[in-house]
Amino acid sequence: MTLHDTYDPNNIFAKMIRGEVPCVKVYEDDVALAFMDIFPQTEGHTLVVPKGVEARNLLEMPDDRVGPYMERVQKIARAVEKALKPDGLVVTQFNGAPAGQTVYHLHFHILPRREDEPLRRHSGGDPADSGTLEALAEKISAFI
Ligand code: AMP
Repeated sequence: MTLHDTYDPNNIFAKMIRGEVPCVKVYEDDVALAFMDIFPQTEGHTLVVPKGVEARNLLEMPDDRVGPYMERVQKIARAVEKALKPDGLVVTQFNGAPAGQTVYHLHFHILPRREDEPLRRHSGGDPADSGTLEALAEKISAFI
């Protein structure tokens, strides 16, 4: 999927928004849904997706929707920092497969970084234990 294809309403994040596929939810309102990444690159890896838009990436996000969405990204990033107290925090986003994107509904990654924790593989390896993800989601959502 390059930057020049079309939005697929059956992508997995769109299905999560519609409640057709489960996710370990951290936060949801009418603008965004935040949930735990099932293949976390670090402990606490969280994703934030916009709702009510068919945007594959940041470039396709309507001008009047990007502000409220980015407020949610910041809100979740602050909660991750408060809950998990990492040494650093990566907030990132990929546009198109050649840039590293694998799911084509806009999302920001929030990745806690710790001095002693290596970055695990992106979008692969073994899925995380669901109990562990649920405990992390509960911890983060307590700070929202
Ligand atoms: P990207 O490669 O930037 O499009 O990121 C997609 C992210 O979605 C990756 O970090 C994946 O680990 C994550 N992911 C894929 N499927 C699921 C799922 N079912 N639940 C939670 N995260 C997922």
